[in-house]
Amino acid sequence: MPVLVPRSLAEAVQMVSSEPSALLLAGGTDLLVETNSGHRTVDSVVALDRVPELRTWSSDRTARTVFVGSGVPYSELMRGELAALAPALAQASRTVGSPQIRHAGTLGGNLGTCSPAGDALPVLAALDAAVHLVSASGERVIPFSAFMVGVKRNARAPGEIISGVTLPVLDGWQGYSKVGVRNAMVIATASSCLAVDRSQRSVRVALGSVGPVILRCPEAEGFLARSADWERESVSDDIVSEFAQQCAAAARPIDDHRSTASYRRHAIGVMAARQARRAFPHG
Ligand SMILES: Cc1cc2nc3c(=O)[nH]c(=O)nc-3n(C[C@H](O)[C@H](O)[C@H](O)COP(=O)(O)OP(=O)(O)OC[C@H]3O[C@@H](n4cnc5c(N)ncnc54)[C@H](O)[C@@H]3O)c2cc1C
Repeated sequence: MPVLVPRSLAEAVQMVSSEPSALLLAGGTDLLVETNSGHRTVDSVVALDRVPELRTWSSDRTARTVFVGSGVPYSELMRGELAALAPALAQASRTVGSPQIRHAGTLGGNLGTCSPAGDALPVLAALDAAVHLVSASGERVIPFSAFMVGVKRNARAPGEIISGVTLPVLDGWQGYSKVGVRNAMVIATASSCLAVDRSQRSVRVALGSVGPVILRCPEAEGFLARSADWERESVSDDIVSEFAQQCAAAARPIDDHRSTASYRRHAIGVMAARQARRAFPHG
């Protein structure tokens, strides 16, 4: 089986365009599980881990955005300046797998797999991330909401490489919470990202593992944005409770081997209430 190892993004694009059926390999933490269990057959592989452009990030202070390369592993997302610019992404990264998985696993791999339980994805949805896809025809940039189209399905076309995501740098609290059957090494049975922006007085909420795609909660977002006291950064208990109910109502959970739909809905309400309290702490 040929394994191609490009050393630049241009070389990777050229290899993928001449072998559109080749599997793209980043950290391999999803792909190797799938191939070892026989769920995927592999004819050829393009290994992306030595493409420097994919492993870097940069910030634009004027535009107040951060570009994060798809090959940046969780171990980098969760620390340093990048963690300060995108705190919810750092928090989500800290919940992924074990140190080994966080060292190998990448943001691009989470996007490539596109599981509703992927921990980075509610953050990307809440932040309205833009996903960059490059191919021999150039680059296209699409919103995360158009990228994830179903359970483990995304809008990436054959021959395209996810090069990274652009995130806004918000002015306010943001965080990620996850419920699972254990405290560590666990796939989310329900997850939630809340991000507020004080200058725009906006609230964003995205839910994971409670629908076929990551779900935003526009009614709950509008309600909390209108009801919160932005000057004092406070909300009343009644508002928190109503907000939590609206988030829970936006979930579309199912019963499966990990949990029941009713527990998932309950967990969303609990996480939403806690996050609202953290975002507006002077209650
Ligand atoms: C023990 C264990 C624990 C785990 N725990 C968690 C967890 O807690 N939370 C969680 O979210 N996930 C978890 N995972 C899943 C996995 O670690 C993540 O989804 C991770 O982000 C995958 O990244 P990767 O770089 O390893 O991707 P890979 O396995 O290399 O690739 C995954 C998919 O994405 C595609 N792909 C990768 N990079 C690109 C690119 N640049 N462009 C286009 N397509 C691309 C691949 O072709 C493949 O289809 C766990 C996995 C294991 C084995």
